[in-house]
Amino acid sequence: MLLTPRTTAARPKALRTPRIAAALIAATASAALVAASAPSPAAPLGIGDPLFPHLGNPGYDVDSYDIAFTYRGDNRKPLDAVTKIDARVTAPLERVNLDFTHSKVRSAEVNGEKARFDSTGEDLVLTPSAPLGPGERLRITIRHTSDPVSTEDAQSGWVRTGDGLAMANQADAAHLVFPCNDHPADKAAFTFRVTTPKGLTAVANGLPTATARDADGTTTWAYRTHHPMATELAQVSIGRSTVVHREGPHGLPVRDVVPTKDRKLLERWLKKTPGQLDWMEKKVGRYPFETYGVLVADARTGFELETQTLSLFERDIFTRPEYPEWYVDAIMVHELAHQWFGDSVTPRTWSDVWLNEGHATWYEALYAEEKSKRPLEDRMKTAYRRSDGWRTAGGPPARPKTPAPGQKISLFRPVVYDGSALVLYALRQEIGRRAFEHLERQWVHIHRDGNATTADFVRLASEVAGHDLGGFFDAWLYGEKTPPMPGHPDWRTGAPEGK
Ligand SMILES: [Zn+2]
Repeated sequence: MLLTPRTTAARPKALRTPRIAAALIAATASAALVAASAPSPAAPLGIGDPLFPHLGNPGYDVDSYDIAFTYRGDNRKPLDAVTKIDARVTAPLERVNLDFTHSKVRSAEVNGEKARFDSTGEDLVLTPSAPLGPGERLRITIRHTSDPVSTEDAQSGWVRTGDGLAMANQADAAHLVFPCNDHPADKAAFTFRVTTPKGLTAVANGLPTATARDADGTTTWAYRTHHPMATELAQVSIGRSTVVHREGPHGLPVRDVVPTKDRKLLERWLKKTPGQLDWMEKKVGRYPFETYGVLVADARTGFELETQTLSLFERDIFTRPEYPEWYVDAIMVHELAHQWFGDSVTPRTWSDVWLNEGHATWYEALYAEEKSKRPLEDRMKTAYRRSDGWRTAGGPPARPKTPAPGQKISLFRPVVYDGSALVLYALRQEIGRRAFEHLERQWVHIHRDGNATTADFVRLASEVAGHDLGGFFDAWLYGEKTPPMPGHPDWRTGAPEGK
C-alpha cells in the first residue's frame, strides 16, 4: 500500500473510518487469551496477531476459496455471493470460526450438511453436526450477501467506483467482503466467478479460465490464481472497463484494466509496465506470478494497493498534473515491487509489515535514482533526520504500535515506509552492495509463495554476510532511537522538521 499524498486541500475520504471500536479495545486487551482459552460457545477467536488479535482462526488451514459474486449493476446494493472453502483440520474443532461481518448469511454447510451459524464480534461461527478431528477435510459452503457500502462502523473492502466496484482489503477488510480466514499467514488458492449485467466487465486476480454468456444477457467471468494468495490481496474489478493486453519480459502476459473512456489517456503510463518489470527482474530475479497489470479505478481511494497480479491505482495519480512523471513512475514501481515483497513473500504477522513497505519503498527510491537522477542518499539522509520522530510516533520498524481504534490503516505510517527503507540502506552500508543485492535475490527466491518473519530475514542476512547481524538488527529494527548510520557518522537525527 502507498498513501497518495494530496497536493490539494481535499483529503482522502477512504482512510478507514471507525469499525467497531469497543470490540477492538476488548481485542487489544486480551490478545493471548483470545487464542489460548477454551471459548464459550460462539466466541470470536483469532490467531494472536500482536496488532490484530481477532484476525484469523485456529484449528484449520485453508487450501482454496471459490467465490461467486452476482452483481446487478448498482454499486449501492449488496451483491449475492456463494463462498466455498476447502480446508484441512489441524486441531480438534467443535466449532469452526470464520472471519465475516457487515453482510447477511443465508445458509451454511459443512461437509455437505447444513450447519448452525452464529455471528459474534467479527466472526461467523459454524457448528457442524459432529466435531472434526485433525487431518479431516473441511468443505464449507456459505450463501451470503456482500455489501459494498461502508458505514461509520464498517469500512467495506469494496471500493465503489464511478462505474462499478474494485477491492481494497488491506489490512483487515477481506472479511467484510467474503467469509475467510482473514490473516496473511493462511495463504490459499482463489477462484472468482463474477456475474455481471450486459456492458460490464469483471476481472480478478490471476488468469481467466472461462467466460460464459448466460441466456438472460448476463456474463459470468471466472478467474483463478496460479499461486497462493493472502485474503488481503484479493482483487475483483467490475466496471465499464477495457482490458489492455501486452507482453512483458520472456512473454509474461501483461494486462491492464482501465475505464474504457480513459483508455487512450492512460496509454502513456500503461506502456511503462514491461520496462519496469524488466528493471525489477534485473534487481531481484524472475517475476513471481502468472501475469501482472495495473487496475485504474475511477475512485478517490487515497492509496494505491498491491493486489496480487493486478495492482490498484486511483485514476487521479495518472491524470492530475501536480504529480510529476518521476513520482508516478516510482509509485508504479512501489506496487510492482510488492508483488515480490508482500505478495509472493508474505509476512507471517502484521508486525512484519516493514518487510513489505520497507522493500517496496527501497525499489521505489532506487528506481527514482537510476531513472530520474534523484539520489537515494539524499532521500535516506532526509529519512535519517526524521527517523527518531517517526519511531516515537509509530514505534520501531519491526514493533509498530497498535493502530488506533477505528483507524487500522494508521499501521501504514512513515516508519514502515522511508523509516524501514532506511534500515535496508543501513544494512547495505554495513554489509556492502554485493552482499546486499545477493541477500535480496535469495530472500524472494527462498520464500517464494510462502510466509516469512523478521527473524527469517535477520537469519538470512547474517548467513549472506558471513557474520551474526543480530545486534545490528536489534538496534535498527527494535530501537526507540535510530542508531548511527554506518559510513555516515555526520548524519544527525531529531532536528526540527524542515518540511
Ligand atoms: Zn506499499
